[in-house]
Amino acid sequence: MFFHGTSTVNNQGHLVIGGVDTIELAKQYGTPLYVYDVELIRSRARQFRNTFQNLGVKAQVAYASKAFSSIAMVQLAAEENLSLDVVSNGELYTALQAGFPVERIHFHGNNKSYEELVMAVENKIGCVVVDNFYELSLLQTICREHSYSMPILLRVTPGIEAHTHDYILTGQEDSKFGFDIQSGQAFEAMKQAEEAENLELLGIHCHIGSQIFETTGFKLAAEKLFATLKEWKELTGFMASVVNLGGGFGIRYTSEDDPIPVSVYVEEIIADVQQHVKNFNLEMPEIWIEPGRSLVGDAGTTIYSVGSKKEIPNVRNYLSIDGGMSDNIRPALYQAKYEGVLANRVKDEVEETVSIAGKCCESGDMLIWDLPLPRANHEDYLAVFCTGAYGYAMANNYNRITKPAVVFVENGNAQLVVKRETLEDLTRLDLPLK
Ligand SMILES: *Cc1c(COP(=O)(O)O)cnc(C)c1O
Repeated sequence: MFFHGTSTVNNQGHLVIGGVDTIELAKQYGTPLYVYDVELIRSRARQFRNTFQNLGVKAQVAYASKAFSSIAMVQLAAEENLSLDVVSNGELYTALQAGFPVERIHFHGNNKSYEELVMAVENKIGCVVVDNFYELSLLQTICREHSYSMPILLRVTPGIEAHTHDYILTGQEDSKFGFDIQSGQAFEAMKQAEEAENLELLGIHCHIGSQIFETTGFKLAAEKLFATLKEWKELTGFMASVVNLGGGFGIRYTSEDDPIPVSVYVEEIIADVQQHVKNFNLEMPEIWIEPGRSLVGDAGTTIYSVGSKKEIPNVRNYLSIDGGMSDNIRPALYQAKYEGVLANRVKDEVEETVSIAGKCCESGDMLIWDLPLPRANHEDYLAVFCTGAYGYAMANNYNRITKPAVVFVENGNAQLVVKRETLEDLTRLDLPLK
């Protein structure tokens, strides 16, 4: 078994996170319950930031808040001097409500609406990452109306797509995001942005994928970006003051995953970047990165209550828990794999192999296939590890199941940061038939 962050077992055999007994948490706040190891989030954030600092590279580390956005989470990101990526008016609103420093907010997305861009301009956020020509002109119009100049990055597609264990090189990248470099779209966008009176072009951005375990993809992307910048500089004199290399750093969900430390990602990528800057005779730009999953993924654990059990002799044993695809849709959506333990009997011997079923009316609502566990019943609790990213963020009300509560734990203290949804919440927006 592999424990993440501050997770340990106490002498009652209970899973302890952040110095707090998770069974006590389950009793106090109910289940399913999202528990976040705050110290682990802080330490990841510091590893990213310190590595840049030690290398003497000016940088911004932006938390991609789509991984898990809530007021407390955004405030934690602010405390750790992170910047913040948002991709909708909802994430921006959350950041503003949290009092996040606006100058460190970056707005992403391939189809930002007029209202969303107005919100960005009116709140004078740090930058808009412009994705396409429609947005480029829409943002200019809005800035003109507001007599404001907005700092922007251009999202470009370098023609490199990274997957978990490999990467794909495509000439003309088939992606809904960004300006294509190969066909000259990115160059055209740069010229338009440079000419626009109400836009301040800081530089370029790319994001090549998610749950990436090697630096190869990032390095190929960096090489392409810097070669492009060299070309642009020769042609027009424009040089980017910011190069944003995106997020996507992999984490360990199960024993099959073997990520490299955060510091190694940064060191290896920066070594290449510095080489390109030297070879192409450019000034070193500020480097921005945007980790989401690697900041919060393994810091999150979900505690469920075990319920019914179905044993089909010689076929399979199903163990059902009081949540499922309503609080974690990743297994159903893309066969994501997780590991888990009985949170109240961590030290007990493994006795059987069970498959963990959710309670939604979908055969595909399975959280974990073939998990070795002690023989469990309805008095037990199941902890599923590494649910911190894209878990609560993708929670939904399918079957009108209420969304779980979220607690932060640190140094023996627990703090409720998102209340459990109530039945009243479920019908709050409903109107009766006339
Ligand atoms: C999703 C996303 C990220 C974060 O990705 P992770 O895999 O969670 O690190 C960063 N940048 C952009 C543009 C994204 O869309």
